[in-house]
Amino acid sequence: MPKRTNLDSSRTEEDKSFEQHIRPKRISDFLGQNKITDNLKVFITAAIKRYDALDHCLLTGPPGLGKTTLAYIIANELDVPIKATSGPVLEKPGDLAGILTNLEERSVLFIDEIHRLSPIVEEYLYSAMEDFKLDIMIESGPNARTVQISLPKFTLVGATTRAGMLTSPLRDRFGIKFRLDYYDSEVLKKIVQRSSSILGIQIDDDAADEIARRSRGTPRIANRLLRRTRDFADYENKTKIDLDIAKKALEALEVDESGLDEMDKEILLTIIDKYNGGPVGLNTLSVSVNEDPGTIEEVYEPFLIQKGFIQRTPRGREATLLAYKKFGRKKFNSSQTLFDD
Ligand code: ADP
Repeated sequence: MPKRTNLDSSRTEEDKSFEQHIRPKRISDFLGQNKITDNLKVFITAAIKRYDALDHCLLTGPPGLGKTTLAYIIANELDVPIKATSGPVLEKPGDLAGILTNLEERSVLFIDEIHRLSPIVEEYLYSAMEDFKLDIMIESGPNARTVQISLPKFTLVGATTRAGMLTSPLRDRFGIKFRLDYYDSEVLKKIVQRSSSILGIQIDDDAADEIARRSRGTPRIANRLLRRTRDFADYENKTKIDLDIAKKALEALEVDESGLDEMDKEILLTIIDKYNGGPVGLNTLSVSVNEDPGTIEEVYEPFLIQKGFIQRTPRGREATLLAYKKFGRKKFNSSQTLFDD
């Protein structure tokens, strides 16, 4: 059983309704990811001018970076309805057919975790995406026959944290593909400030900075830390979140200085302590930390590499000197020579 971390898996219903409340509705409220939003504006405006459906759109990237938010923004900007579902929910072709035949012309169908579609449902989706047609088998045995149903022209927005698990026929059917990246702390700070104004609590500049820095480059985590920090401010009868209260809250919540979560730390410490800093192969690492190799590769590693804690080499993953320093470890090579600055 994979461990639960402060990434996507541990979201409670309360978290979800809070997220819904502060989710940006328009493209102008969606901060950062400028390349994506600039392109999206062009594609959306063009589709509106032609009164046509937007091309199918694939959003990939680690959890909490804004894929769902963007899907809803796309529908809002196109001024069309959105129907949301997810890969594992669509078990049978009939589930998909039921949704597709009820869509409105030009509307958006959002499929989250699209990498988890069953192969048979995925196959039905191909002709729906390409020709806006669906072949449905009716009756069974000797009377079995297929009928073709025409579908309204719709836009499929697919989201996945695991781009590597998509089959190429599915990937190729998306005309627009965006990969969301981690946010820098300047943008996260603006997101924290925006959220606190929606929550109706004042926050000092340096306090917003502190929360942003420790949010693992992820808006969902930044918003969650803000909410917990607000609890501390309320508890101490403060009307404003200042640096003092932010630091106190983050310390009490045991949030790491660099924003690393438990699994990040476990990956780094495993490479350092069990494999002498690496290189260690992905599969070996995966068994050691009890997490799926694809999740390590696509959800955890990108952040650790971006922060300079891990290096990918042809022989496997290596912990960098920065990682050793972070945990106060000294690095030795095989002949026990101390590597240090
Ligand atoms: P994902 O679908 O990638 O897991 P979500 O779209 O659910 O992520 O985003 C998580 C939360 O982070 C949302 O509540 C949203 O308010 C916030 N968020 C994400 N991206 C942005 C952004 N660019 N600007 C402001 N808030 C954002």
